[in-house]
Amino acid sequence: MIEKIYEEMIARDPNQPEFHQAVREVLDSLEPVLERHPEYVDANILSRIIEAERIIQFRVPWTDDDGKVHVNRGFRIQMNSAIGPYKGGLRFHPSVNLSILKFLAFEQVFKNSLTTLPMGGGKGGSDFDPKGKSDSEIMRFCQSFILELNRHIGANTDVPAGDIGVGGREIGYMYGMYRKITNEFTGVFTGKGISYGGSLIRPEATGYGQVYFAREMLKTRGETFEGKVCLISGSGNVAQYAAEKVIQLGGKVITMSDSGGFIHDPSGINREKLDWIMDLKNVRRGRISEYANKFEEATYTAVNHSLDYNPLWDVKADVALPAATQNEINEIDAKNLLSNGVYVISEGSNMPSTPEAIEHFIDAGILYAPGKASNAGGVATSGLEMSQNSTRMNWTREEVDSKLDSIMVNIHETCAKTAEEYGHPGNYMMGANIAGFLKVADAMLNQGVI
Ligand code: NDP
Repeated sequence: MIEKIYEEMIARDPNQPEFHQAVREVLDSLEPVLERHPEYVDANILSRIIEAERIIQFRVPWTDDDGKVHVNRGFRIQMNSAIGPYKGGLRFHPSVNLSILKFLAFEQVFKNSLTTLPMGGGKGGSDFDPKGKSDSEIMRFCQSFILELNRHIGANTDVPAGDIGVGGREIGYMYGMYRKITNEFTGVFTGKGISYGGSLIRPEATGYGQVYFAREMLKTRGETFEGKVCLISGSGNVAQYAAEKVIQLGGKVITMSDSGGFIHDPSGINREKLDWIMDLKNVRRGRISEYANKFEEATYTAVNHSLDYNPLWDVKADVALPAATQNEINEIDAKNLLSNGVYVISEGSNMPSTPEAIEHFIDAGILYAPGKASNAGGVATSGLEMSQNSTRMNWTREEVDSKLDSIMVNIHETCAKTAEEYGHPGNYMMGANIAGFLKVADAMLNQGVI
């Protein structure tokens, strides 16, 4: 039955490989669930859950600083609202297309369910490339994007946030335009600035949560982060705060990257060096290669597109924290990670490991956490931002961080327990997919065929 649904999906949308990959991973985990719950089969939940409730695609025209007019494409995938308003980020990157956004929206449904907060799943974005654009170009693009998107979102309908290429600056411009058009001050975006309804710890949440999840996995073996050597990919929002938390917990971060290549600092990226990276990426908007000029103990390796592996994953370490993009760890990378001694992988990026890579991790019996569980801290804290907006209250850093920490502990426990219950102890991927699915499937079942 699962095979048939999968084949029908490919026949319908043959050119969406990332979406197929995300669906395959979840459907393959659900066999033991369908055996126990024939009611899901009778209600055809699987065919319904892989079909977006609504997809919006629109034109985004904007003018650059020289007066030249450009056109990009905007999207919002409203995947599933059975357990709450659509919730998920916006990505601005030239690679953005329907396949990538549908995979992200699909993952988001299960991730949001795992947080236990009332949030459905969605995702959106544009093929706009923010790199090299001035602040005013970014502002004009964001305003044009929201001129259309505003009619499809709302604090109780669909609440977007950031993702690749969308940080505090972009959310600010989009929120400002939304507020002007609707003449309402509501919590329609998360990741907002603190002065206009944002939550403390939201910028840190995905990276912190990713490390909290890894800490919980290490705990099952009686270990801690103290002295652990960690590989991190990316140097954006998630990567920066994953690095910060690893340093706080006594671990040693030796790599970070961007789309140009990676730096390897065997002496460890300490607090002072991380501050320098944060300034480089968030203020000066420079390239990670500059790190090796500044700190001579480090080396920089440019990305070589003719290689069929990423040398970042071929460095000796204990822990890997991917935090850049999808499919950044392939089968060769997985073998390299394992042979270099890595035995903890906690995904910050969405779907960073290919199915072949995941198979190697699971066969090797290492501590492997799929992104939909280990990177759920970001959206969970977005949920906390929504709660603060609804009650017009602001919680302290400590309050939000402690709620985030308990949510990650709880997600870890749920995944571990569910995996065991369904006959796959230690398999966090099975646990996450099944637990995330059950809540949404029950809600869909109870709400009838809609
Ligand atoms: P940012 O835009 O802040 O950072 C992305 C980082 O990844 C940059 O260093 C970027 O390099 C690098 N990168 C992007 N695309 C590629 C690529 N094709 N190849 C190599 N490197 C690449 O994004 P975030 O940190 O917010 O997001 C990182 C990942 O985490 C994404 O997969 C996102 O979906 C996921 N995520 C983010 C959440 C959040 O709260 N922000 C929540 C949950 C998941 P460069 O600057 O050169 O492009």
